[in-house]
Amino acid sequence: VAKDVGKRTFRVFSSDMDNRVSEYVWLDINLRKALDAEDQLVLYYQPKLCLKTGVVRSVEALLRWNSPERGRIQPLDFIPYAEDSGLIVPLGRWVMRSAAKQAAIWKARGLDLRIAINMSARQLSSSTVVQDFVEALRQAGQAGCQLDIELTESCLINDEALAHAVIRQFRDLGAQVHLDDFGTGYSSLSQLARLPLDAIKLDRSFISSINDNATSQALVRSMVAVAQQLKFGVIAEGVETEAEAEFLKDIDVDDAQGYLYSRPMPAREFEEWLNNKGKKLRLVA
Ligand code: C2E
Ligand code: MG
Ligand code: MG
Ligand code: MG
Repeated sequence: VAKDVGKRTFRVFSSDMDNRVSEYVWLDINLRKALDAEDQLVLYYQPKLCLKTGVVRSVEALLRWNSPERGRIQPLDFIPYAEDSGLIVPLGRWVMRSAAKQAAIWKARGLDLRIAINMSARQLSSSTVVQDFVEALRQAGQAGCQLDIELTESCLINDEALAHAVIRQFRDLGAQVHLDDFGTGYSSLSQLARLPLDAIKLDRSFISSINDNATSQALVRSMVAVAQQLKFGVIAEGVETEAEAEFLKDIDVDDAQGYLYSRPMPAREFEEWLNNKGKKLRLVA
């Protein structure tokens, strides 16, 4: 009996492994193809609003993959793989270039908009990351830098000193650096205090429970107070209700992003949104 159970357990384990391996093989082949084909990858843009004025100051660029075989694939279903395999480096390079191009297009149309791109730990620690960034800006033919960078705490784990040095280089180039998903990682407050940052981005998980319980409100208030003491800006992600936005505005959170205002959209659609809904969100003083 024991032998049977053992066998069965082994078989289940083995088929799980097989599935995972074949999924990895599929992702590897097709993500490489997507990088060559280029038109399978697209950046969506989600606005961030200044809570005081309602002005859209920047957008977050979020990667989407349209696979000819499987249709739309969300970032959480291929970015972790790209991080494991190292494909995140060329993928991140593609993101930098596309965002820089889009920023140049918007600037030429007189739009004053910054674009924040996400960067993974593996990408940040690659030896070419700053060079790639400079090259993306150069190719877009931009004078200044309208790109900002969102990093997660995992970027700081391996080599904090190196991460700080890279962050400083980005800031010297004119990019703002934001700490994404703040509150979900494990860095200590003293580590946070040392970070050369422009702003922290409160994770969505805290925002969505603001109006359900007093504990969440206390947590958000405390995190915002710490960030403000450290002279960091504060951005809230995942804002879905007016009540959440009101609470965040009352405690002096700077910018807000979320479905309350808009979902991430392709560039064209975002421009339309900005001309219609975006304008209406502006608060006349
Ligand atoms: P993130 O950087 O924290 O991005 C915010 C995520 O929250 C996005 O999911 C966005 O669509 C979603 N979101 C925004 N507002 C709301 C809201 O009000 N409610 C809810 N429920 N969700 C909201 P998305 O686009 O699926 O991206 C997931 C994650 O994938 C991102 O989290 C980021 O970590 C990663 N990612 C996306 N694009 C890139 C990229 O170009 N490079 C890298 N390295 N990572 C990326
Ligand atoms: Mg982000
Ligand atoms: Mg985030
Ligand atoms: Mg998040």
